[in-house]
Amino acid sequence: NKFEDLGINEQILKGLYSMNFKKPSKIQEKALPLLLRDPPTNMIAQSQSGTGKTAAFVITILSRLDYSKPTQPQALCLAPSRELARQIEGVMRSIGQFVDGLTIQPAVPGTVERNAKVQAMVVVGTPGTVMDLIKRRQLDASQMKLMCLDEADNMLDQQGLGDQCLRVKQMMPKTIQILLFSATFPEGVMRYAEQFSPQANQIKL
Ligand code: AMP
Repeated sequence: NKFEDLGINEQILKGLYSMNFKKPSKIQEKALPLLLRDPPTNMIAQSQSGTGKTAAFVITILSRLDYSKPTQPQALCLAPSRELARQIEGVMRSIGQFVDGLTIQPAVPGTVERNAKVQAMVVVGTPGTVMDLIKRRQLDASQMKLMCLDEADNMLDQQGLGDQCLRVKQMMPKTIQILLFSATFPEGVMRYAEQFSPQANQIKL
């Protein structure tokens, strides 16, 4: 049970150790081998908050980026609130602090100037803002390869947010890898989750 054994690259390992993460948490140990495998597969992961979900998907995103294209959006992480999106961005910057050339764009209201192009590899934001950026052609979604929803129960449950998430997904390439993370998946939400992230590996702690 070591990060080294999961095939995580040196720069990311350095970030993890500098945060004092000595070994993978249970959810990371279970999810990362599946998440880092090729070809990419969808995942629906259920685990209590505080168990290390954020690092699991952050490591996955950082591992899948093409660092020769620093201005090309390649991965999208969505959260139900601005605060959570900002928090995820912070974790990504910490874990990615030694990753050369990593670029991250927060996408919550007020972070992207009107008419400015998003020129970062990872976009972390809320569904409404991301949807607007794509519609206004400020965000090019054509090369996105990974889309992750944190607190998926909240995202897919609420009428408004769920619609926005679906619209965002419909603007992504058909082959995108979709990861859903949540502390709970009530039955109704799970049915929707399985449509949203088809043929997903499902893991549960
Ligand atoms: P999360 O469930 O993502 O909110 O993470 C809960 C807390 O666990 C955060 O404070 C993380 O910094 C911490 N954490 C995540 N992964 C590990 C790990 N492998 N070892 C030690 N702490 C961790």
